[in-house]
Amino acid sequence: MNASAVLRNGWQKVFGAGARSARPIPGDASHGTILYLEDISVSFDGFKALNALTLYIDAGELRCIIGPNGAGKTTLMDVITGKTRPDAGSAWFGQTTDLLTLTEPQIAEAGIGRKFQKPTVFEQHSVLENLALAVAGNKTIWTTLVSPLSRVQHERIEAALETIHLQDRRDMRAGMLSHGQKQWLEIGMLLAQQPQLLLVDEPVAGMTPQEVERTAELLLSLAGKHSVMVVEHDMDFVRSIARKVTVLHEGHVLAEGTIDEVQSDPRVVEVYLGE
Ligand code: ADP
Ligand code: MG
Repeated sequence: MNASAVLRNGWQKVFGAGARSARPIPGDASHGTILYLEDISVSFDGFKALNALTLYIDAGELRCIIGPNGAGKTTLMDVITGKTRPDAGSAWFGQTTDLLTLTEPQIAEAGIGRKFQKPTVFEQHSVLENLALAVAGNKTIWTTLVSPLSRVQHERIEAALETIHLQDRRDMRAGMLSHGQKQWLEIGMLLAQQPQLLLVDEPVAGMTPQEVERTAELLLSLAGKHSVMVVEHDMDFVRSIARKVTVLHEGHVLAEGTIDEVQSDPRVVEVYLGE
């Protein structure tokens, strides 16, 4: 039995109900997987927001998650980041980290960063100071701004500035940035913390067409170095970045494949027409 068969069929189906989870068999080729979600269910007052959801993300992959309103996309991110505990299922980050045993801060510490829809930068502080606060981790604003940064921290800040293309705005107050630039700064702040997996919820909502294009370039430039999971409604945007798309519907994976494959899937068409 090879790893891809396990991934395809699910650990439980291949190894029986007693099998614990789809962590890779030691020594086999599935180390490329960074996130394993299996049979995850979340109920709110009896309503299943996630219903036996199974999803795998590869290291370095850029994955788009789409689906109609209420499909469970945000709940999925809440489960991965520890904000919501599932009623059933397993969630592993890499081969050794059981996400369901960790708190939200421990999950962030383990290398999962989350970008919420609304930018949450420190408006009174400069772009550079925002990035310094991010690399400093949980120090207070005051301690961070008066302490000299280490060389490594400087390098991380410069690398983030370059990735988000805000080098020439480094001394500008974050409050003066455009909406799109604030979103990039927040992505830069997450990158400065060097997450292995980055979750991004609707990054291009409210952006100008030029900003949308820059955001696509930015997310594409992260692929390979980080795994990125993007939830997005804008189909043109998804088309411009997507390698692999997962369609959620009623808390379950309805379809998975290239954007062309999922858009021509009759079940997907039906779900979107019914919206
Ligand atoms: P999406 O992000 O795909 O639009 P959500 O994950 O936000 O969907 O929500 C999935 C379903 O779960 C929706 O029907 C929503 O109303 C419900 N839901 C989400 N969070 C809660 C909550 N805290 N309490 C009750 N119902 C919730
Ligand atoms: Mg949502």
